Amino acid sequence: MTASTKAYRARLLRFSPEGEALFEEDGLLVVGLDADGVQRVRDAGPYRELIARHAQVPLTYWPDRIIAPGFLDMHVHFPQTDIIGAPAEGLLPWLENYTFPAETRFADAAHAGEVAGFFFDELQRNGVTTALTFCTSHPTSVDAFFGEAQRRGLRMMGGKVLQDRHSPDGVRDETEQSLVDTEALIRRWHNKGRLGYAITPRFAPTSTDAQLRGAGELAARYPDTWIHSHVAENKDEVQWARELFPKARSYLDVYTGFGLMRERAVYAHCIHFDDADRALMRETGTAAAVSPTSNLFLGSGFFDYQGADRIGMRHGLASDVGGGTSFSPFHTMLAAYYVGREGQTKPGLSLAPSRLWWNHTGGAAQALGLQGVVGTLQVGTEADFVVLHPAATPLMARKTALADSLEELLFALIVLGDDRLVEHVVTA
Ligand SMILES: [Zn+2]
Repeated sequence: MTASTKAYRARLLRFSPEGEALFEEDGLLVVGLDADGVQRVRDAGPYRELIARHAQVPLTYWPDRIIAPGFLDMHVHFPQTDIIGAPAEGLLPWLENYTFPAETRFADAAHAGEVAGFFFDELQRNGVTTALTFCTSHPTSVDAFFGEAQRRGLRMMGGKVLQDRHSPDGVRDETEQSLVDTEALIRRWHNKGRLGYAITPRFAPTSTDAQLRGAGELAARYPDTWIHSHVAENKDEVQWARELFPKARSYLDVYTGFGLMRERAVYAHCIHFDDADRALMRETGTAAAVSPTSNLFLGSGFFDYQGADRIGMRHGLASDVGGGTSFSPFHTMLAAYYVGREGQTKPGLSLAPSRLWWNHTGGAAQALGLQGVVGTLQVGTEADFVVLHPAATPLMARKTALADSLEELLFALIVLGDDRLVEHVVTA
């Protein structure tokens, strides 16, 4: 027992490594600091059973509050924080009119640093403790992102965007230099404490073959880095990719041709897929970052949950801010429920509340290759957690008090919840 060990008593939500929700009405979470400076879960379970062996540990009691794993956002753009809610006629005009002008400003280190600070404040206010993040094509944006994450001790992944064609001046990079910069950034930031580098081609249409090939070579040379991009979001984009890469079987197939599908490769959206695409995702260990508020906002389409389950394609949830409309995991989970229900373009189904929650915590961690590291509050995992106040508003208090089961409680929080629910965020 060291002085750095702490115990927290509250209602306690955890997940088994397989994704089963575990709930204690009166729970205890014990965390301790390891030699590497990271705080991990030492013990967790019913308060009455565990308290005897932790009687000497300083105890914080949060009556009526719920301790739950910190949320993971599988796909978000920190430089797009200021363009959330920008009106546009779909994806491609939205990129041209809002996204690229906003991203141009990240060549300026002071601007990048200021936005990074605001971005992390906003993630933490909403209970998001890990995110896989796009920066911009400017290395300054990556240094700003990781510098701020390191200062806060957060588990974060990000990378410089690669886009050497079909992009305006100010964000377009140069093929050779972009790959040299990426490798330098990998060496500077990857596996520094809790940070991880993501090799980040924006999407196939904005990279030349040479840039995609170089990205694939880096992904092979640094096999525990992440790969992060977009695919099959919107039908115009799918058509464009088909014209640019006529030899590929499908848009997704372009990436596998360049060595950009493997464990820790994450593609946002994955909407306009067939079963061969889903099988390719499964066989390569690649994961989909489902971004429902963004897909509804831009009218891109509906992720097919039944198709993903049938084939066994890994997936988890993402905000995709600024295409997405909220940093709140509660808004994202509710939008995922709407997307699941939609039954005109694909089979509709009702996603269980505990599954929605899993897809934004432990399931997202699994899809990111971070199983056993974060997302479940299992013993030995990093102690990133949120403390939720289920009576944060009068309606939430009334509705959560009526819940007869864990599923009803979680669904009330998903439907009514936002940042007001998040009372504390504790990071490892
Ligand atoms: Zn995106």
